[in-house]
Amino acid sequence: MQNLTAKVALVTGGARGLGEAICHILADAGITTIIADVRLELAEKVAQSLRDSGKEAMAVALDVTNAAQIETAIAKIVSQYGRIDVLVNNAGVDLTVSIEEMPVQEWERILNVNLTGPFIMSKAVFTPMREQGGGFIINITSTAAKRAWANASAYHASKWGLLGFSHALHVEGRPHNIKVTAVVAGGMRTPFLTERFPELDLSTLQDPKNVAQTVLYLLMQPADTVIPEIMVLPMKESSWP
Ligand code: NAD
Repeated sequence: MQNLTAKVALVTGGARGLGEAICHILADAGITTIIADVRLELAEKVAQSLRDSGKEAMAVALDVTNAAQIETAIAKIVSQYGRIDVLVNNAGVDLTVSIEEMPVQEWERILNVNLTGPFIMSKAVFTPMREQGGGFIINITSTAAKRAWANASAYHASKWGLLGFSHALHVEGRPHNIKVTAVVAGGMRTPFLTERFPELDLSTLQDPKNVAQTVLYLLMQPADTVIPEIMVLPMKESSWP
């Protein structure tokens, strides 16, 4: 088992939903947790609640599409904590419209946040992770990377792309002791779905804590084992099989 105390993790989109659940589980395991989100106010709330219960946590304003901001944030973390051990590429967006209704700018925004963002983030942490002797990069993809439904073309393209990127990064990371995993998550009770689809039967979705628990499980694997891909599904939701 890995000793997780003294490790430093950054979670993109950590201010709410799955990202927030991951931040809580990592901080509870003794990991210094950086909550990185475009919604700084929400991220500050998560960081404060962790610090109130004696955990090490910091919020940073970070847009995963902004390479300059990312470089600055990673440099600050490495100078403050001396290392960056875990990156969770969790931030994600969607727009539920048909291809005919999808503006090109919205397609680009979704691809930028969900696919180019994880690339820029991974590139920024790769060098410090290699220099410190290893690390973990976890990419939150979706059952949308395994099958398709209507009115989600950009989301499907981005998540399918992220799954492919994650496997490519896994191959490049292994020689440097950087473990890379794609988490293929099924439907979760987060604002991502509940705000847009209030009519959804919540009992068909899983608690984001269950997926967050899987992230911790990945980090706890023995040093000589890596899990490149793992699927975590609710018992009832029907996006799979
Ligand atoms: P959410 O909308 O509840 O939370 C997403 C967070 O990402 C928000 O805090 C938001 O501010 C942040 N964010 C958005 N754009 C950002 C950017 N450019 N830079 C930094 N932060 C940004 O969503 P969620 O359900 O918690 O989703 C988390 C991840 O899980 C996403 O990648 C999503 O695609 C994936 N996922 C969700 C479900 C589901 O059913 N909710 C299922 C499978 C996969």
